Amino acid sequence: MDKIVSLCKRRGFVYPGSDIYGGLANTFDFGPLGVELANNIKKSWWKNFVQDRSDMYGLDGGILMNPKIWEASGHTQGFIDTLVECKKCHKRFRTDQVDSKKCPECGGEFTEAKKFVPMFKTFVGPVEDSASVVYLRPETAQAIFVNFKNIIDSFHPVLPFGIAQIGKAFRNEITLGNFIFRKLEFEQMEIEYFVEEKNWEKYFKEWKKEIEKWVIDLGIGKKNIRWREHNKEELAHYSKHTEDIEYDFPFGGFKELYGLAYRTDYDLKNHSEKSGKDLRYIDLKTNEKFFPHVIEPSFGMERTMLAIFSEAYYEEEIKGVKRVVLKLNPAVAPIKVAVFPLLANKPNLIKKAKEIYDGLKKEFFITWDDRGNIGKRYYAQDEAGTPFCVTVDFETLEKDDVTVRERDSMKQERIKIKELAVYLEEKLNG
Ligand code: ATP
Repeated sequence: MDKIVSLCKRRGFVYPGSDIYGGLANTFDFGPLGVELANNIKKSWWKNFVQDRSDMYGLDGGILMNPKIWEASGHTQGFIDTLVECKKCHKRFRTDQVDSKKCPECGGEFTEAKKFVPMFKTFVGPVEDSASVVYLRPETAQAIFVNFKNIIDSFHPVLPFGIAQIGKAFRNEITLGNFIFRKLEFEQMEIEYFVEEKNWEKYFKEWKKEIEKWVIDLGIGKKNIRWREHNKEELAHYSKHTEDIEYDFPFGGFKELYGLAYRTDYDLKNHSEKSGKDLRYIDLKTNEKFFPHVIEPSFGMERTMLAIFSEAYYEEEIKGVKRVVLKLNPAVAPIKVAVFPLLANKPNLIKKAKEIYDGLKKEFFITWDDRGNIGKRYYAQDEAGTPFCVTVDFETLEKDDVTVRERDSMKQERIKIKELAVYLEEKLNG
């Protein structure tokens, strides 16, 4: 894990938050490569779960919403964590995240458990009183429920159908560590899938398959994931049945990657009661009015990223060359191709390489490097997870071809410049 954290900082994937001021626990910033990776994960998710399906509607709801929403959803009363404090070092832990009765940091004894609501509060307007309290959303789901009727009115969907959203969620997490696994602000990729009550088990099973397929397609090994059912005590206040897909993270083994919850008709029913607006669905064939039941696949973007890093990180030695390499699936790799002139002080090489760079840049997200020697440039691109490096050398000037080096096999091939874009396109997207 330390090696992943250090590579992430070195190569501009993830920086500790507010670092020059001593940091702020459980916050992180994404650097240039981190933003690309995050966007690629979200793009893949959105394409797979929204655009490629005909039963899905997208949404981008607000982070700040009327606080009555959090009362109706049960969060102000039911979204509760319990914490213990070490009497010796005064560190705080969530009780469900410590295995023993002693502090894992110093062995000290814990205080009695106290309850707290992990939602961040802020105020709307100039007066900071209870009438102006609003919460930063702890999940994206509620924006979906409160827009349910809007989507029905605009699009008249027929059950089963889903509403999907990607966006920030905020939780006042007190357990420290484990890098981006647990952040104060993180991105959720959530779906509320509306079904008839009698069909919930069927769709729950289908969603398990859909989730598994997407993670495996991203490059996560099947052997490193497993499903775990929540017991009664663990179930969230809104859920009747929840299963987590867990990933075997490099710290502490299998931990929650995503949750899949059967939320029943809890949310729509409560919002209907509390808002006074009828959120029932009308079956146009039978004219029956009822609250659909909900299956909720809830994905964390950062946990996806951490699982991807854990899968892709390799230290290896091939033909005497030692290297660290991120074997990222090209679909999520931040940089697809790096272009190098063999030498930085030869104008004719630079000119040719620039032409190739400008041509490829229209097709892919690529980078340029002319610092140091070729070996160092390969080393840097391997750590960044760049699938292909293209080198322009003296032979290029005579034969109009370049050396293309593939990241994982380190194999090099000569490819004609006029065939280069198609060659890379096939390899990257093929
Ligand atoms: P945990 O028990 O680990 O705190 P949770 O069960 O509270 O997680 P959910 O409420 O099911 O999490 O949230 C759905 C998903 O959002 C999680 O599966 C995870 O991928 C992501 N997630 C939740 N909390 C965080 C966080 N603090 N930082 C990063 N991702 C998170």
